[in-house]
Amino acid sequence: MYVCIKPYVDYAVLPNQDVSVCCSAWHSFGPIGSAMETTIEKIWQSERAQIFRQSVSDGSFKYCHANACPHLKNHDGPVILLQDAPEIIRNIILDNRFDQAPLPKNLHLAFDETCNLRCPSCRNEIIASDQTKVSDIFNMVRADAAKEVEYINLGGAGDVFASPVLRNWLYKFNPAEFPLLRHIHFHTNLQLFSEKVWEKIPDAVKKMKITFDVSMDGASEKTYGINRPPGNWDKLINRLNILASLRKQGIVADVCCNFVVQKNNFHEIPDFISLVNDLGFDMAKFTKLDNWGTFESDDYLQRAVHLPDHPLHKEYLEILKNPLLQHKIAYLANLN
Ligand code: SF4
Repeated sequence: MYVCIKPYVDYAVLPNQDVSVCCSAWHSFGPIGSAMETTIEKIWQSERAQIFRQSVSDGSFKYCHANACPHLKNHDGPVILLQDAPEIIRNIILDNRFDQAPLPKNLHLAFDETCNLRCPSCRNEIIASDQTKVSDIFNMVRADAAKEVEYINLGGAGDVFASPVLRNWLYKFNPAEFPLLRHIHFHTNLQLFSEKVWEKIPDAVKKMKITFDVSMDGASEKTYGINRPPGNWDKLINRLNILASLRKQGIVADVCCNFVVQKNNFHEIPDFISLVNDLGFDMAKFTKLDNWGTFESDDYLQRAVHLPDHPLHKEYLEILKNPLLQHKIAYLANLN
């Protein structure tokens, strides 16, 4: 039997202070609590957390969408066979002790929407979140979670290098505050990354496992300019080359480049795989276009080439037959 261990390890704090254990687009369960209202222990062992854990542990996955969650679709990542689950989680599942999950090891700092770009698939304008509020949330989360956390994901709602609060925390990182932290993951568009920025990151961070997710959504200057405005293609390539050098030296352990598939870029899927491979990166990841409320319904349907009724859907399926899609770095996360 397959189970998902994500709700046993992941703790993501969102801009509205909700706590989520998984990407909200992948399931219908909603948050398990609010970070500012009570302690991490109470949220983590709350009835809602227990109900969700049970649903991913009894084989039903009744709140999870297999056509949206790449892990449920592909049986990879946190979706594993029960016998392969870490012993402590396996025993909780076998004994139905869903209120006894150990405190979360993975912290997702997804509460700052500040970003230098306004990608249509995400937002309609440049957003700069109130940094006093961001700081308040972060202070609360740090006080609550810091001692147990082994992994931090910086980003997911905005860009870490655009966020003064997250950026300054990184530059002044204090290892004593996070004694078990071993892995930092950057989710970024790279536009504000540079050699100077890398130099500012202290050795205490660089000693850890460092991984990157880079949002790109195109393999050409024209498409990138439309899907990632006002991002600059030449700057992106320059930043990718800096990252490629760090990856080649083993200073960065893994780089995944992300591509949200839509009408204006699906022809570039093979070129994207070649680009990512030439840079020496580890994964070219493709996901289908979601509507996060930024598109009118007709506009979304016009862009969502993965939908069977789309006029270009057959052409899209032909592109998916390209042999490059079989390359080991190509990951069709939740494409149909
Ligand atoms: S199966 Fe997918 S949607 Fe469900 S909890 Fe796991 S990762 Fe999230």
